[in-house]
Amino acid sequence: MSVPFFTGVREYIRNKDLFNRAIETVLLRGDYILGEEVDAFEKEAASYLGTSHAVGLASGSDALLLALHALGIGPGDEVITSPFTFFASVSAITRLGATPVFVDIDPETFNMNPSLVEEKITKKTKALLPIHLFTQTADMQPLLTLAENHGLSLLEDAAEAFGMEYQGQKAGTLGDIGIFSFYPTKTLGAYGDAGLAVTKNENLAERLRILRRHGETSRYHHKEIGYNSRLDTLQAAILRLKLQSLEQDIEKREHWAQKYNNAFAALENVRLPVIKQQCKPVYYVYSLITPYRDELKAFLDKNDIGNAIYYPLPLHLQECFQFLGYFPGDYSVAEEAARSILALPLFPDLTEEESDNVIDTVHRFFKGL
Ligand SMILES: *Cc1c(COP(=O)(O)O)cnc(C)c1O
Repeated sequence: MSVPFFTGVREYIRNKDLFNRAIETVLLRGDYILGEEVDAFEKEAASYLGTSHAVGLASGSDALLLALHALGIGPGDEVITSPFTFFASVSAITRLGATPVFVDIDPETFNMNPSLVEEKITKKTKALLPIHLFTQTADMQPLLTLAENHGLSLLEDAAEAFGMEYQGQKAGTLGDIGIFSFYPTKTLGAYGDAGLAVTKNENLAERLRILRRHGETSRYHHKEIGYNSRLDTLQAAILRLKLQSLEQDIEKREHWAQKYNNAFAALENVRLPVIKQQCKPVYYVYSLITPYRDELKAFLDKNDIGNAIYYPLPLHLQECFQFLGYFPGDYSVAEEAARSILALPLFPDLTEEESDNVIDTVHRFFKGL
């Protein structure tokens, strides 16, 4: 039996009438850009997250770009971030003419190692950009303290982190701005591209709202050069529905993660996800660490078990970032993670039979070593 790494189709089929009705309502209302659904989703998302302002944007990648822009990041500025993340966290920095400055990651959580940040702060440093990867937030307290002491902005890339908590606060609400992606595979996933930026600062929220409609302050009057980056109205209608079942979805993710944890606890040559005490996890991605990663991947592929490598090549080694002047070995913890990490199928609508099959296949691989 093959097991998909991810599918959104089962959820759609389960709630087909609800989704179809929500889409039809938007189409019959004839209000296709922003409008009621986007307003309502922004309010509901802000309330769920416990923050004041939420601004719907076209994608998580755009949310990073607009958030950095709103924070005033531009040519000559430096932004301290991690090389072990999705491409967009760093391309947003370079797009604005600023320079990403990397620090290596914590080998257990794969998040930015806060103890390496201070030595990278220079006169040009304007912001910290931690990313909350896979299951839990970065260690935010030391980063918040550094930002405060050095007068830096703090932007959270919470693209993967909807619903995660740090010391009782929702991911994305601790820094100046937090951004989310609703890419279909994400914990809260749309049926297309969608994103969000949240902030407690009214001025930043207003700036983001202006930037998402071409910098327009009144119709055809542009205060600055903005973007076309609005959350799509149909996606907002879908996200409102999915937000209602989010807590159940998070519980289902937790169930599959614990099942994997129990099944793999006794395996040698495998390290399971490590959750830090101050973090309440959401299992967006369930990754194993093993020195036999490539062999395990080939075995899963041969047995039709979905799997994925997040991320195979750290960003300091990407061809397009060669101009930054980094070399292999510069961020050895990130490079080692890229060589040894593998994600298994985990989404709410996985079945017991499918997860049994994943577990059995992983066990067969390690027995055969
Ligand atoms: C998914 C993701 C993004 C980008 O989101 P899109 O909505 O696909 O543009 C940015 N950062 C991280 C860490 C992500 O996982």
